[in-house]
Amino acid sequence: MKNNPFNMPGQFYRGNLHTHSTGSDGAYSAQEVIRRYREAGYDFLAISDHYMEVFDYPVTDTRELRSNGFTTLIATELHTDELQCGGIWHILAVGLPVDFPPLKENETIIELTNRAADTGAFIGICHPSWSGLTVDEACQIECAHAVEIYNHGSKVEVERGEDTPFWDTILNKGHHLSGYATDDAHKMTYDCFGGWIHVKAESLEPELLLEALKAGHYYSSQGPQIHSMDIIGDELTVTCSPVSNISLQGHDQKSAHQQGTGLVEATFDIAKFKASHLRLTLRDAGSNRAWSNPVWFD
Ligand SMILES: [Zn+2]
Ligand SMILES: [Zn+2]
Repeated sequence: MKNNPFNMPGQFYRGNLHTHSTGSDGAYSAQEVIRRYREAGYDFLAISDHYMEVFDYPVTDTRELRSNGFTTLIATELHTDELQCGGIWHILAVGLPVDFPPLKENETIIELTNRAADTGAFIGICHPSWSGLTVDEACQIECAHAVEIYNHGSKVEVERGEDTPFWDTILNKGHHLSGYATDDAHKMTYDCFGGWIHVKAESLEPELLLEALKAGHYYSSQGPQIHSMDIIGDELTVTCSPVSNISLQGHDQKSAHQQGTGLVEATFDIAKFKASHLRLTLRDAGSNRAWSNPVWFD
């Protein structure tokens, strides 16, 4: 099984890739936001303020706020150009240099996103449902590594935070995009600590986390933990924290599931998934979910 973070050396680090501070329209300073995430048990955080003229195109420098056992990634949320529906684009860039220059005159979202990717950044397509983004528009961002499949702020505020069907449509078109859950916290009240990722890396070095992100060596969660995904022949065995539903999603209408109380293991015949890909979703008794990245067989 290629690209399987569960079999790789290192450990899982818990982090949030998309958060705001007073560097743009967040309620708290980067220092205070970081203090709260650290206290909540996270290992790393990316402050991704809005890259807009009104905020002076911030790339919030959090390097001084790194400490023993907690690190930060340098990020921003890129904006320019209108979507077909009329709103502005929102694209996450994580792993930028702090001196990433402001928007250039007449720069398009594709040029801007490519410029960020060229610095080595991880590129994510933010909250598609909140944005009113179409799948065809998302597919124009060819340098993207991932889609935001769960945005906690958009979910708890306006019920537009869930994008796994959007992700599946992109995967059905053959695009190899990972998916990440995030908070997109602004207020740090009900909009935080609701969706995160566990990244597999050999240490908590920002460079190693960034490489793991770009390679898709992580899974997303609202609570449940995926412990392993092992494929031998046509069998996938999953182990996890206790959940009520373990399901697989594949190309077109391919799916499978097991349901029960306190499930911690499941084995599936995955022969039908092998023409393309599969991904794993867990759901616990409180309807919290965890999502693996896709396993591609093609
Ligand atoms: Zn946004
Ligand atoms: Zn945001």
